[in-house]
Amino acid sequence: MFQLTLRRRGISDQTVLRTMEEVPRELFVEQTDRNDAYRDSALPIACGQTISQPFVVAYMTEQLQLQKQHRVLEIGAGSGYQAAVLSKLAGHVLTVERYRRLADTARARLEKLGCHNVEVMLGDGLNLPANIGPFDRIIVTAAMEQIPQNLIDRLEVGGILIAPVGPHQGVQTLIRLTRSETGIERKELVDVRFVPALPGVAREL
Ligand code: SAH
Repeated sequence: MFQLTLRRRGISDQTVLRTMEEVPRELFVEQTDRNDAYRDSALPIACGQTISQPFVVAYMTEQLQLQKQHRVLEIGAGSGYQAAVLSKLAGHVLTVERYRRLADTARARLEKLGCHNVEVMLGDGLNLPANIGPFDRIIVTAAMEQIPQNLIDRLEVGGILIAPVGPHQGVQTLIRLTRSETGIERKELVDVRFVPALPGVAREL
């Protein structure tokens, strides 16, 4: 059923579909939402954040065109679900989260599932230390009013960055940037709704 829903919504990459099937989403949602884990909707997680809708996770993953040797950066680890999906398709995943509680929970889940190529880092994805990167792929899973240049600068030639860009409240557009030898190509994909990307490590747990 899960695969069928994703297929109907337009996901055609077999590897992505298979991977979505392999990652147990029920382990990434709140206990009380386990029965709804495979519905195609976003669900609340701790710290007032959300785990993205399966279609959006599959769509963004498909757009990244991942290969086994890729080094991937995710901004917004949240539950760790998207990172688990990425980990099956890429070489290494660094996922950054500004809430300690979410970072710790995501790290524990990913370890338990054997996603040993994922590193969960507590930090501010809008202001990463200069020595982090470059990456073959960058995926932002929180809404940005614009894509910071210091993030674009971490993209390898041939690299792809995907991010929801638009107002913090309301609808954003998924933007895909591709870096070539000669510059950056920008493409608008679909409309999405994400929780905002906020500056700094959260002071709350
Ligand atoms: N990818 C997640 C869903 C992310 S929700 C999943 O699969 O579950 C967006 C997440 O981005 C939230 O957890 C939020 O705390 C985090 N976030 C927002 N701004 C951030 C920033 N500047 N740096 C790192 N994480 C950030």
